[in-house]
Amino acid sequence: MRWRHWKRDMAIGLFGMLALMAGVWLFWPKGPEKIPGVTYQAQFVDPGPMLHLAEVLSSDALQGRAAMTPGNDAARGFIRKRFEDTGVEPFLPGGWEQSFTILPRTPDASAGTGVNLIGWVPGETPGEGPVILVTAHYDHLGVRDGEIYNGADDNASGAAMLTAVAEYFDGRPPNHDILFAALDAEEIGLLGARALAFDPEVPMDRVAININFDMVGRSESGELYAAGTYHTPLLADLVSEIAKTSPATLLTGHDRPEDGVNDWTLQSDHGVFHQAGIPFLYLGVEDHPGYHQPTDDFEALTLDFYVRAADTVVNVVNAADGILPEIFAQRRAPAPPPSKTEGTPE
Ligand SMILES: [Zn+2]
Repeated sequence: MRWRHWKRDMAIGLFGMLALMAGVWLFWPKGPEKIPGVTYQAQFVDPGPMLHLAEVLSSDALQGRAAMTPGNDAARGFIRKRFEDTGVEPFLPGGWEQSFTILPRTPDASAGTGVNLIGWVPGETPGEGPVILVTAHYDHLGVRDGEIYNGADDNASGAAMLTAVAEYFDGRPPNHDILFAALDAEEIGLLGARALAFDPEVPMDRVAININFDMVGRSESGELYAAGTYHTPLLADLVSEIAKTSPATLLTGHDRPEDGVNDWTLQSDHGVFHQAGIPFLYLGVEDHPGYHQPTDDFEALTLDFYVRAADTVVNVVNAADGILPEIFAQRRAPAPPPSKTEGTPE
């Protein structure tokens, strides 16, 4: 029965080839991944997937990710996939998504739906004790006058960094629970953050600190700001300690009333949590020529700085985790609600 032998020989041959491939895979030298533009060797985050996600989110195909558009839906799908690949668990009983109503911006517009994604990494006592809430918005300005606003720095950079930091903590569990929220509709009034802050399924009463990433991938000077220490002086010591050895230059500022328009206290999602009396650290770069311009493209990101910033924020989250009960004790009474809610029709 020669055909049987032929089959057997074939099987042995195939097995041998697979064994060879496995051997090559196992013993092939695995040097550090070479990424053009990045000389810094990351210690905490995996830069490849982070940069890839930032590039995908800021590609023309996603049409600027404006809330309530197909490009925004697609962006959310890519972020969710990346979260799932990292091993991070969905936080809400219903899964990853928290949907909320976006009221019409003008009398002739119709209402729509915004969607946040919320994952978490459990600490040593899951469901108990103080929590770190890490946020980054993924929406941007969309298309205006035929031009795509890709928002590579604002805030594809932060959304991708969010997943990279989540991946780090999934592999090295923290002391306290950490929530990772990719927020929608920041650009039209911090609406995703407001929805998160007022969702009864999100334990805001346990949140000790909001750490918010918004514009973290583009700095020619290599400088990353940690704003919010003015409001919670305890955090100034934490930041200055990290700054001594951080891979990106870490500065404080942009959080005092006398800074005027350069006071960033209420200028991104952390503002909502600040008004709720929660300490915050906002991580972001100085405004650059691409800010809210069609030129905010992936090609303009400073990738070496971006990877350094990601490792730096891992240090920040780790340090906050280390003294979280003390930070929790810095919570203040919430500010009175604004007289008119953003997004409410006239
Ligand atoms: Zn932004």
